[in-house]
Amino acid sequence: MPSIERPGLSFWMAASDHTVSAALERLAAIVGENVEQLVDAFYSTFLLHEEASAYLSHSVVNQRLRYSLRQWLLDLVDEDLRSDTSGFEQRQIKIGEVHARLKVPNDIVMEGMTLLKTEIARRVSVLGLDATTTAETIILLDEAIDFAMRFMTEAYVSDTRSRAQTDEAFRLFSLGQDINLERETQRAALMEWSQSVLFSLLGEKTEEARNMLSASPFGLWVRHRAAVLFQGSTVLGRIEDLIRQIDQRTIPAISGREPAAVSDLQRQVEELKYLLNELFQTAANIENGRDPLTRTLNRRFLPSILGREISLAKSSGSPFTLLMVDVDHFKTVNDTYGHSAGDAVLGCVAEYLLGAVRSSDYVFRYGGEEFLIALVETDRTEAQIIAERIRQGIAAQRPRVSETRTVEITASVGVASFEGHPDYQYMINAADKALYRAKQEGRNRVCVCGDTRPGSTAARQEAAPPEPVVNHYKRQQVP
Ligand code: GH3
Ligand code: MG
Ligand code: MG
Repeated sequence: MPSIERPGLSFWMAASDHTVSAALERLAAIVGENVEQLVDAFYSTFLLHEEASAYLSHSVVNQRLRYSLRQWLLDLVDEDLRSDTSGFEQRQIKIGEVHARLKVPNDIVMEGMTLLKTEIARRVSVLGLDATTTAETIILLDEAIDFAMRFMTEAYVSDTRSRAQTDEAFRLFSLGQDINLERETQRAALMEWSQSVLFSLLGEKTEEARNMLSASPFGLWVRHRAAVLFQGSTVLGRIEDLIRQIDQRTIPAISGREPAAVSDLQRQVEELKYLLNELFQTAANIENGRDPLTRTLNRRFLPSILGREISLAKSSGSPFTLLMVDVDHFKTVNDTYGHSAGDAVLGCVAEYLLGAVRSSDYVFRYGGEEFLIALVETDRTEAQIIAERIRQGIAAQRPRVSETRTVEITASVGVASFEGHPDYQYMINAADKALYRAKQEGRNRVCVCGDTRPGSTAARQEAAPPEPVVNHYKRQQVP
């Protein structure tokens, strides 16, 4: 079947030579005569497009892109896609890479392709051809554009993915640098700026522009380095706002000898110092991706870690099990002894859990008082034994809730092992369901998903596989 060699080009492969060459000739004539109009239609639509205009309005890009689009259209109708299309494919891949580099969202590219298809098809439909010939021409056009789009999209996706990985790797690498040294350096840079700016503005009058905080070493660091290190941080946003305020209002006010301006600046610099501290504090907390209170793994790493473990389990055939551990009646601890006592209990449970598993296993903070443990190369029977040991271990802890008091705690555990389903969420749901049962059966116990021993509640409740989405057992977000 030729269509298997060229997926997506079934009509191209099935149609006769005559049909294809006649259609190509028509398309080449339409595109050739209308290429400027097509390019215009494309850009006039997208320059008005709120999201797309951000990528297109720059005149150099605009000129280059106009030229590239023109070439692309001519190329599209020049090629007989039944023959060797490797050159054509390579060119589409290059375009996809450029889109990824410019960060042009792929949905905008798709929208552009639809627009071009419509514009060309409209012109085909008024040629006065019979219905079959019109349809054939339009189908060939559609297939050609989709064929091109497939290579562009593949390149776009793989390029974007590797770019995201590199960005993340760089961020982690940067975080791994001496974070304390970095904080001290920036604090010093800020102080130095604030002293020199007062000195210079209050002494002989110098240009305001030369005293801008945004142009100082601290300002440059915020704009370039901090933006990578603390991506998406709200504290960073506040720092940037404050820098703008200082540059746009306070500095001119000091220059103009406004009475309150100097103390305004001092207050703003104090606030910046505070925010800078906050910024680094958050970074120290997410260092190694650990939850600051419990030192267990942050759940944002769940997708990559569980995804990887599931692929390993699938390819090597080794077992893999999850435990969902939830502290029983934890709310009572908070209500009776206060929130910080509750925190101390969580710290104690987490420390115990981290010490109770092998170094190759993973302990995540999954919710408020809930931990997810991934036991690698462990089957259900072994996991059940480990879960039981953990349950007893937690019950034996005596976390301190005040100088004079310790409390007794228990936890319930849900166990679910890998059964071949590629989506890790399916395993989590199964563990959740087992945990729910452990709670219902009286807490301080272990329940295994799919435990169908006669008489066990599971035999009744879990005849069906776990639902793709379950209402998670009273889940709390990690604060
Ligand atoms: P159950 O046995 O059914 O699990 O009862 P529970 O009281 O443990 O569960 P519930 O979900 O009703 O309450 C959990 C409480 O955990 C409520 C929430 O305020 C508290 N919590 C969540 N995260 C934290 C935290 O980080 N620190 C403290 N101290 N409490 C937290
Ligand atoms: Mg609980
Ligand atoms: Mg809970």
